[in-house]
Amino acid sequence: MSGVSIRPSLRGLKFSPTLLINEEVAEYRRQGHTVYHMGFGESPFPVHPAIQDGISGYSGRNQYMPAAGMGELRTRARQYILKKHSIDNDEFDVMIGPGSKELIFDIQLAVDGDLLFPAPSWVSYIPQTLITRDEVVRIPLGPQTSYKLDGAVLERRIVESRREGRNPTKLILNYPNNPTGMTYGPAELEEIGAVCRRYNILVISDEIYAQVAFRSSHRSIAHFYPEGTIVTTGLSKHLSLGGFRLGVALVPRRLESVFQVLRSIASETFSAVSTPIQYSVLTAFEENPAIERYIAECTEIHDIVTRYVWRTLQVLGVDYAEPQGGFYMYPDFDRYRHRLADSFGVHTSDELARHLLRTTNVATLPGTAFGDEPEALRLRLSTVDFDGLTALTRYREDPPGAAGETRAACRSAENAFVEAACPRVAEGCQRLVNYFSGGAS
Ligand code: PMP
Ligand code: GLU
Repeated sequence: MSGVSIRPSLRGLKFSPTLLINEEVAEYRRQGHTVYHMGFGESPFPVHPAIQDGISGYSGRNQYMPAAGMGELRTRARQYILKKHSIDNDEFDVMIGPGSKELIFDIQLAVDGDLLFPAPSWVSYIPQTLITRDEVVRIPLGPQTSYKLDGAVLERRIVESRREGRNPTKLILNYPNNPTGMTYGPAELEEIGAVCRRYNILVISDEIYAQVAFRSSHRSIAHFYPEGTIVTTGLSKHLSLGGFRLGVALVPRRLESVFQVLRSIASETFSAVSTPIQYSVLTAFEENPAIERYIAECTEIHDIVTRYVWRTLQVLGVDYAEPQGGFYMYPDFDRYRHRLADSFGVHTSDELARHLLRTTNVATLPGTAFGDEPEALRLRLSTVDFDGLTALTRYREDPPGAAGETRAACRSAENAFVEAACPRVAEGCQRLVNYFSGGAS
């Protein structure tokens, strides 16, 4: 054969920036280079023993599962997620897929119309529309509003885009948010839900960080707009099980036609999620007290480490609200624009991320990966480059900020914890501070 022609609509499709930076960093490290990896968001804690035991116990299970997932797993997942995401409505069906990324893609594929895309948002939503060949209606958000969507802005953009002849039918909302670390409270969600109801917009609510919310409890927008929200979530974040590839979607029973298409897509593509994996995670959806304690500890460590990074960067004068969940932040280095341009010829976030990696060995992701404008000097920093077992062990032995300590004492205990248990995170931060305050400010 002399060659094949790639489908024109897919010629612009690239390798995912998150997976790319992770593979590149792994390769640099294999070659013996030191890299401070703030480019990838993989929770680093060891698999909980109850789940590990489960997987070895079920390694002999080799039958296919139903395409939508094992019945018992779907039942447990539904109860567990309704409770954890504070949804007082049980009219949802459950779809189990190989990661919520695949489920989000399948939902986008199933539902006709243009995607309302709050920019910045997570890296894979837009590339997925290249495959589904959907149009995107961008909703640009900025640092003044902590990159948060509100009902009025959403409504304006829906009306405006319809006037331009567009057909927005679905919105992806993600909170706690990757890349910004921001989350939404009940009043904000109620307002967004009301706008979506008024304009008949499906919300794809990506709540994968729900259990990595720091101090406020998480509530799903499905509580306010149950008939029009599909919640996607999974085990990759609060249980550090990204590599298990198991995600969940709650689909309102009123959207039965969407559920049936998701099931059919599964049946014609991945067939079903791996059987031993489905068995092994049953226990993750039954409020096992030991697992719940582990989730709380891991989230507390993410909270401590993420706020450490945020606090350390404060000396750079980068105005940015304190992260409320997840393990990311999204600082804007605009105030360094002239120095960066004059000293290093850096004008865009891509150039900034590349220059940082080359000169400081700190890997980050540029704002463009999240659908932001190239000239906006924004980077996503992730805060998970540490050994999870070391951090968890130390935390259990001596949790920083025990009850009764003053705020200042808590902070200094948290700083000491990160510097001892997460040294690459501490060093990566220091290098960022030196880069901007030394050479570039
Ligand atoms: N949504 C967001 C915002 C993410 O950061 C990720 C990254 N893992 C996913 C979805 C996909 O997660 P998974 O496919 O592992 O469930
Ligand atoms: N969600 C993680 C991130 O944003 C990585 C995993 C992925 O992209 O699938 O870094």
